Amino acid sequence: MSILSTKQLTKQYGDKQNIVKALDGVNISIEPGEFVAIIGTSGSGKSTLLNMLGGLDRPTSGTVKVDNYELGKLKDEDLTVFRRQRIGFIFQNYNLVPILNVYENVMPIQLDGKKPDQKFIQEIVTLLGLEKKLLHMPNTLSGGQQQRVAIARALASKPAIILADEPTGSVDPRTANYIFDVFTELNRQGQTILIVTHDVALSKKVKRVVAIRDGKISSERILKEKYADRIKEAAIDWRNEDTQEEYAIVDKAGRVQIPRDILSSMNLQDNKVKLELSEGKVISSGPPAEL
Ligand code: ADP
Repeated sequence: MSILSTKQLTKQYGDKQNIVKALDGVNISIEPGEFVAIIGTSGSGKSTLLNMLGGLDRPTSGTVKVDNYELGKLKDEDLTVFRRQRIGFIFQNYNLVPILNVYENVMPIQLDGKKPDQKFIQEIVTLLGLEKKLLHMPNTLSGGQQQRVAIARALASKPAIILADEPTGSVDPRTANYIFDVFTELNRQGQTILIVTHDVALSKKVKRVVAIRDGKISSERILKEKYADRIKEAAIDWRNEDTQEEYAIVDKAGRVQIPRDILSSMNLQDNKVKLELSEGKVISSGPPAEL
Protein backbone atom coordinates (compact mmCIF):
# COMPACT_ATOMS: atom_id res chain seq x y z
CA MET A 1 0.00 0.00 0.00
CA SER A 2 1.31 3.43 -0.84
CA ILE A 3 2.61 5.73 1.87
CA LEU A 4 1.79 8.82 -0.17
CA SER A 5 -0.58 9.24 -3.08
CA THR A 6 -2.42 11.91 -5.01
CA LYS A 7 -5.51 11.63 -7.18
CA GLN A 8 -6.30 14.16 -9.90
CA LEU A 9 -4.50 16.83 -7.90
CA THR A 10 -4.93 20.36 -9.22
CA LYS A 11 -3.82 23.76 -7.98
CA GLN A 12 -4.81 26.97 -9.64
CA TYR A 13 -3.63 30.44 -8.84
CA GLY A 14 -5.05 33.78 -9.87
CA ASP A 15 -8.62 34.81 -10.68
CA LYS A 16 -11.05 33.88 -13.47
CA GLN A 17 -9.45 36.29 -15.96
CA ASN A 18 -5.98 35.04 -15.31
CA ILE A 19 -5.86 31.44 -14.17
CA VAL A 20 -2.49 29.73 -13.74
CA LYS A 21 -2.84 25.95 -13.62
CA ALA A 22 0.22 25.16 -11.51
CA LEU A 23 -0.89 21.52 -11.13
CA ASP A 24 -3.22 19.99 -13.67
CA GLY A 25 -4.33 16.50 -12.60
CA VAL A 26 -1.33 14.88 -10.92
CA ASN A 27 -1.59 11.19 -10.01
CA ILE A 28 1.37 9.82 -8.12
CA SER A 29 1.79 6.95 -5.73
CA ILE A 30 4.86 6.34 -3.58
CA GLU A 31 5.54 3.07 -1.80
CA PRO A 32 7.20 2.81 1.61
CA GLY A 33 10.99 2.76 1.22
CA GLU A 34 11.09 4.43 -2.19
CA PHE A 35 13.56 7.17 -3.14
CA VAL A 36 11.95 9.40 -5.76
CA ALA A 37 13.17 12.55 -7.48
CA ILE A 38 10.87 15.09 -9.11
CA ILE A 39 12.48 16.97 -11.98
CA GLY A 40 11.21 19.65 -14.33
CA THR A 41 12.08 23.08 -15.64
CA SER A 42 11.42 26.23 -13.63
CA GLY A 43 7.69 26.96 -13.43
CA SER A 44 6.64 23.38 -14.19
CA GLY A 45 4.91 22.96 -10.79
CA LYS A 46 7.52 21.14 -8.67
CA SER A 47 7.38 23.39 -5.60
CA THR A 48 3.60 23.58 -5.77
CA LEU A 49 3.45 19.77 -5.79
CA LEU A 50 5.87 19.48 -2.88
CA ASN A 51 3.87 22.02 -0.86
CA MET A 52 0.64 20.08 -1.48
CA LEU A 53 2.28 16.77 -0.56
CA GLY A 54 3.65 18.31 2.62
CA GLY A 55 0.31 19.82 3.63
CA LEU A 56 1.79 23.34 3.47
CA ASP A 57 -0.88 24.44 1.04
CA ARG A 58 -4.29 23.08 0.05
CA PRO A 59 -5.24 21.81 -3.42
CA THR A 60 -7.90 23.40 -5.63
CA SER A 61 -9.26 19.90 -6.29
CA GLY A 62 -8.18 16.29 -5.97
CA THR A 63 -6.73 14.49 -2.99
CA VAL A 64 -3.44 13.96 -1.17
CA LYS A 65 -3.11 10.96 1.12
CA VAL A 66 -0.20 10.44 3.50
CA ASP A 67 -0.18 7.34 5.70
CA ASN A 68 -3.84 6.82 4.75
CA TYR A 69 -4.87 10.26 6.06
CA GLU A 70 -6.49 12.49 3.48
CA LEU A 71 -4.83 15.83 4.16
CA GLY A 72 -7.71 17.87 2.71
CA LYS A 73 -10.06 16.46 5.36
CA LEU A 74 -7.92 17.61 8.29
CA LYS A 75 -8.71 20.89 10.00
CA ASP A 76 -5.91 23.48 9.99
CA GLU A 77 -4.81 22.69 13.58
CA ASP A 78 -4.86 18.93 12.95
CA LEU A 79 -2.97 19.37 9.70
CA THR A 80 -0.24 21.30 11.52
CA VAL A 81 0.13 18.53 14.11
CA PHE A 82 0.05 15.83 11.45
CA ARG A 83 2.67 17.65 9.38
CA ARG A 84 5.04 18.03 12.32
CA GLN A 85 4.70 14.41 13.33
CA ARG A 86 4.62 12.59 10.00
CA ILE A 87 6.25 14.76 7.35
CA GLY A 88 9.89 15.78 7.33
CA PHE A 89 10.13 18.88 5.16
CA ILE A 90 13.56 20.15 4.12
CA PHE A 91 13.35 23.67 2.78
CA GLN A 92 15.64 25.02 0.10
CA ASN A 93 16.96 27.78 2.37
CA TYR A 94 17.08 25.39 5.39
CA ASN A 95 14.68 27.53 7.53
CA LEU A 96 16.72 27.01 10.71
CA VAL A 97 15.76 29.10 13.73
CA PRO A 98 18.66 31.58 14.07
CA ILE A 99 18.34 32.09 17.83
CA LEU A 100 18.44 28.36 18.60
CA ASN A 101 21.57 26.21 18.59
CA VAL A 102 21.93 23.04 16.51
CA TYR A 103 20.57 20.75 19.24
CA GLU A 104 17.54 22.99 19.83
CA ASN A 105 16.88 23.23 16.10
CA VAL A 106 16.94 19.46 15.70
CA MET A 107 14.76 18.68 18.74
CA PRO A 108 11.14 18.16 17.64
CA ILE A 109 8.51 20.43 19.13
CA GLN A 110 6.67 18.37 21.74
CA LEU A 111 3.14 17.61 20.65
CA ASP A 112 0.42 15.66 22.40
CA GLY A 113 2.81 14.99 25.28
CA LYS A 114 4.94 12.72 23.04
CA LYS A 115 8.56 12.73 24.20
CA PRO A 116 11.20 12.90 21.46
CA ASP A 117 13.25 9.70 21.09
CA GLN A 118 16.62 10.92 22.45
CA LYS A 119 18.50 7.76 21.47
CA PHE A 120 17.24 7.96 17.91
CA ILE A 121 18.10 11.66 17.68
CA GLN A 122 21.62 10.90 18.94
CA GLU A 123 21.96 8.31 16.14
CA ILE A 124 20.84 10.80 13.48
CA VAL A 125 23.17 13.49 14.79
CA THR A 126 26.06 11.02 14.61
CA LEU A 127 25.09 9.77 11.14
CA LEU A 128 25.11 13.36 9.92
CA GLY A 129 28.43 14.16 11.62
CA LEU A 130 26.95 16.90 13.80
CA GLU A 131 27.84 15.58 17.24
CA LYS A 132 30.55 18.24 17.78
CA LYS A 133 28.33 21.07 16.55
CA LEU A 134 25.36 20.67 18.86
CA LEU A 135 25.96 23.89 20.79
CA HIS A 136 26.83 25.97 17.73
CA MET A 137 24.48 28.62 16.35
CA PRO A 138 23.32 28.23 12.71
CA ASN A 139 25.12 31.37 11.50
CA THR A 140 28.49 29.89 12.49
CA LEU A 141 27.98 26.85 10.22
CA SER A 142 28.78 26.34 6.53
CA GLY A 143 25.96 25.84 4.00
CA GLY A 144 26.58 22.09 3.94
CA GLN A 145 26.50 21.88 7.75
CA GLN A 146 23.26 23.90 7.90
CA GLN A 147 21.77 21.55 5.33
CA ARG A 148 22.72 18.57 7.50
CA VAL A 149 21.04 20.22 10.51
CA ALA A 150 17.92 20.71 8.38
CA ILE A 151 18.02 17.02 7.42
CA ALA A 152 18.49 15.97 11.08
CA ARG A 153 15.54 18.15 12.12
CA ALA A 154 13.36 16.64 9.40
CA LEU A 155 14.25 13.12 10.55
CA ALA A 156 13.94 13.71 14.29
CA SER A 157 10.19 13.13 14.49
CA LYS A 158 10.50 9.83 12.53
CA PRO A 159 8.41 11.06 9.61
CA ALA A 160 6.57 8.75 7.23
CA ILE A 161 8.26 10.56 4.38
CA ILE A 162 11.03 13.11 3.85
CA LEU A 163 10.19 15.85 1.33
CA ALA A 164 13.18 17.91 0.23
CA ASP A 165 13.09 20.99 -1.97
CA GLU A 166 16.34 21.23 -3.97
CA PRO A 167 18.40 19.80 -1.09
CA THR A 168 21.64 20.27 -3.00
CA GLY A 169 20.68 23.54 -4.65
CA SER A 170 22.79 25.89 -2.53
CA VAL A 171 25.94 23.86 -1.86
CA ASP A 172 29.12 23.14 -3.85
CA PRO A 173 29.30 19.92 -5.94
CA ARG A 174 31.38 18.01 -3.36
CA THR A 175 28.93 18.81 -0.55
CA ALA A 176 26.05 18.03 -2.91
CA ASN A 177 27.50 14.54 -3.45
CA TYR A 178 27.99 14.11 0.29
CA ILE A 179 24.40 15.15 1.05
CA PHE A 180 23.16 12.88 -1.66
CA ASP A 181 25.09 9.97 -0.13
CA VAL A 182 23.40 10.76 3.21
CA PHE A 183 19.99 10.49 1.53
CA THR A 184 21.04 7.23 -0.14
CA GLU A 185 22.13 5.83 3.24
CA LEU A 186 18.89 6.95 4.95
CA ASN A 187 16.92 5.34 2.15
CA ARG A 188 18.98 2.14 2.50
CA GLN A 189 17.89 2.14 6.15
CA GLY A 190 14.25 2.25 5.01
CA GLN A 191 13.41 5.98 4.99
CA THR A 192 10.99 7.02 2.23
CA ILE A 193 12.37 10.10 0.47
CA LEU A 194 11.09 12.43 -2.21
CA ILE A 195 13.32 15.22 -3.49
CA VAL A 196 12.85 18.00 -6.01
CA THR A 197 16.03 18.56 -7.95
CA HIS A 198 17.31 20.12 -11.15
CA ASP A 199 20.69 18.41 -10.73
CA VAL A 200 20.87 16.02 -13.68
CA ALA A 201 23.91 14.12 -12.38
CA LEU A 202 22.26 13.44 -9.03
CA SER A 203 18.89 12.57 -10.53
CA LYS A 204 20.67 9.85 -12.53
CA LYS A 205 21.48 8.08 -9.25
CA VAL A 206 17.88 8.01 -8.01
CA LYS A 207 15.88 4.81 -8.47
CA ARG A 208 12.74 6.56 -9.72
CA VAL A 209 12.62 9.97 -11.38
CA VAL A 210 9.28 11.61 -12.10
CA ALA A 211 9.33 14.41 -14.67
CA ILE A 212 6.73 17.16 -14.43
CA ARG A 213 5.81 19.49 -17.27
CA ASP A 214 3.10 22.18 -17.30
CA GLY A 215 1.64 20.85 -14.04
CA LYS A 216 1.36 17.28 -15.32
CA ILE A 217 3.53 14.22 -14.88
CA SER A 218 5.07 13.74 -18.30
CA SER A 219 7.36 10.75 -17.86
CA GLU A 220 9.03 8.47 -15.37
CA ARG A 221 12.53 7.09 -15.43
CA ILE A 222 13.56 3.99 -13.57
CA LEU A 223 17.17 3.23 -12.71
CA LYS A 224 18.49 0.34 -14.76
CA GLU A 225 19.12 -2.77 -12.70
CA LYS A 226 22.86 -2.78 -13.36
CA TYR A 227 23.29 0.66 -11.76
CA ALA A 228 20.94 0.19 -8.79
CA ASP A 229 23.54 -1.42 -6.54
CA ARG A 230 26.41 0.74 -7.82
CA ILE A 231 24.98 4.07 -6.66
CA LYS A 232 27.85 4.90 -4.33
CA GLU A 233 30.62 4.05 -6.81
CA ALA A 234 32.62 7.15 -7.59
CA ALA A 235 34.09 5.63 -10.78
CA ILE A 236 30.85 6.02 -12.74
CA ASP A 237 30.45 9.25 -14.65
CA TRP A 238 26.79 9.73 -13.76
CA ARG A 239 26.52 12.83 -15.92
CA ASN A 240 27.32 10.93 -19.11
CA GLU A 241 25.99 7.47 -18.32
CA ASP A 242 22.62 6.41 -19.65
CA THR A 243 21.49 5.03 -16.28
CA GLN A 244 17.71 5.13 -16.55
CA GLU A 245 14.94 3.87 -18.76
CA GLU A 246 12.28 6.43 -19.58
CA TYR A 247 8.55 5.68 -19.54
CA ALA A 248 5.93 8.08 -20.88
CA ILE A 249 2.71 8.40 -18.87
CA VAL A 250 -0.61 7.51 -20.47
CA ASP A 251 -3.57 9.18 -18.76
CA LYS A 252 -7.04 7.65 -18.41
CA ALA A 253 -8.16 9.20 -21.69
CA GLY A 254 -5.16 7.64 -23.48
CA ARG A 255 -3.19 10.90 -23.80
CA VAL A 256 0.60 10.65 -23.74
CA GLN A 257 3.20 13.36 -23.25
CA ILE A 258 6.15 12.52 -25.44
CA PRO A 259 9.47 13.29 -23.71
CA ARG A 260 10.96 16.53 -25.08
CA ASP A 261 14.13 15.04 -26.60
CA ILE A 262 12.15 12.35 -28.44
CA LEU A 263 9.61 14.95 -29.57
CA SER A 264 12.29 17.22 -31.02
CA SER A 265 13.99 14.34 -32.84
CA MET A 266 10.62 13.34 -34.39
CA ASN A 267 10.84 16.56 -36.39
CA LEU A 268 7.07 16.96 -36.71
CA GLN A 269 5.83 19.50 -39.24
CA ASP A 270 2.41 19.88 -37.57
CA ASN A 271 0.67 18.21 -34.62
CA LYS A 272 -0.29 14.94 -36.37
CA VAL A 273 1.42 11.59 -35.82
CA LYS A 274 0.60 8.23 -37.33
CA LEU A 275 0.52 5.33 -34.84
CA GLU A 276 0.99 1.71 -35.80
CA LEU A 277 1.12 -1.44 -33.73
CA SER A 278 3.90 -3.69 -34.91
CA GLU A 279 5.06 -6.82 -33.09
CA GLY A 280 3.79 -5.53 -29.76
CA LYS A 281 5.47 -2.12 -30.23
CA VAL A 282 3.73 1.17 -30.95
CA ILE A 283 5.51 2.97 -33.75
CA SER A 284 4.78 6.63 -34.37
CA SER A 285 5.70 8.69 -37.38
CA GLY A 286 4.85 12.10 -38.75
CA PRO A 287 2.76 12.42 -41.93
CA PRO A 288 4.64 12.31 -45.26
CA ALA A 289 5.97 15.75 -46.27
CA GLU A 290 3.47 16.22 -49.16
CA LEU A 291 0.41 15.99 -46.83
P1 ADP B 1 8.65 25.18 -10.08
O1 ADP B 1 8.83 24.81 -8.65
O2 ADP B 1 8.70 23.97 -10.99
O3 ADP B 1 9.59 26.24 -10.54
P2 ADP B 1 6.16 26.37 -9.23
O4 ADP B 1 5.41 25.26 -8.58
O5 ADP B 1 6.86 27.33 -8.36
O6 ADP B 1 7.18 25.75 -10.29
O7 ADP B 1 5.16 27.20 -10.17
C1 ADP B 1 4.27 26.62 -11.11
C2 ADP B 1 3.45 27.72 -11.76
O8 ADP B 1 2.58 28.31 -10.79
C3 ADP B 1 4.29 28.87 -12.31
O9 ADP B 1 3.66 29.35 -13.48
C4 ADP B 1 4.23 29.91 -11.21
O10 ADP B 1 4.39 31.21 -11.73
C5 ADP B 1 2.84 29.71 -10.67
N1 ADP B 1 2.75 30.04 -9.22
C6 ADP B 1 3.39 29.41 -8.21
N2 ADP B 1 3.05 29.95 -7.01
C7 ADP B 1 2.17 30.95 -7.29
C8 ADP B 1 1.44 31.90 -6.49
N3 ADP B 1 1.54 31.91 -5.15
N4 ADP B 1 0.64 32.78 -7.13
C9 ADP B 1 0.50 32.76 -8.47
N5 ADP B 1 1.15 31.90 -9.29
C10 ADP B 1 1.97 31.01 -8.71
